[in-house]
Amino acid sequence: MPILFEEQAETIVNIKPSCPWCLTPGQQVMIQTVKNLCENSKINEDDHYYLCLSPDCASGYFSQKGEVIPKNALSVPIWFKEKLSVPVYYCQHVTDQQVWEHVLISSVAAVLRKFKHTREPILAASVILKNPAGR
Ligand SMILES: [Zn+2]
Repeated sequence: MPILFEEQAETIVNIKPSCPWCLTPGQQVMIQTVKNLCENSKINEDDHYYLCLSPDCASGYFSQKGEVIPKNALSVPIWFKEKLSVPVYYCQHVTDQQVWEHVLISSVAAVLRKFKHTREPILAASVILKNPAGR
């Protein structure tokens, strides 16, 4: 095994896996999130999964071993990849369109009060399972 200088080793650790389709670095997500949103996909329990962060790429998730799950295979749209009205608060089924309409007649503070995002255990678990970003 070759000996790495500390700086080289740190660089290797910081490399983020990139989407095989667009080469954009991904954001790691919990396997529970992928399993919950991709009912028809064969999720490999021994793999690591990442959310493709490119708005223009048709990939939803990709794995460290090279599997790609298209965004249209997910049970919910990924908000930053869609031009249509999509959920922004996945656990409450609130769309971006609903938020903008509410902003027009109310204040941002009222929106935040109505759709308050708490970190209570049950709701946090719901976010992990329903939000494609897993958080
Ligand atoms: Zn991609």
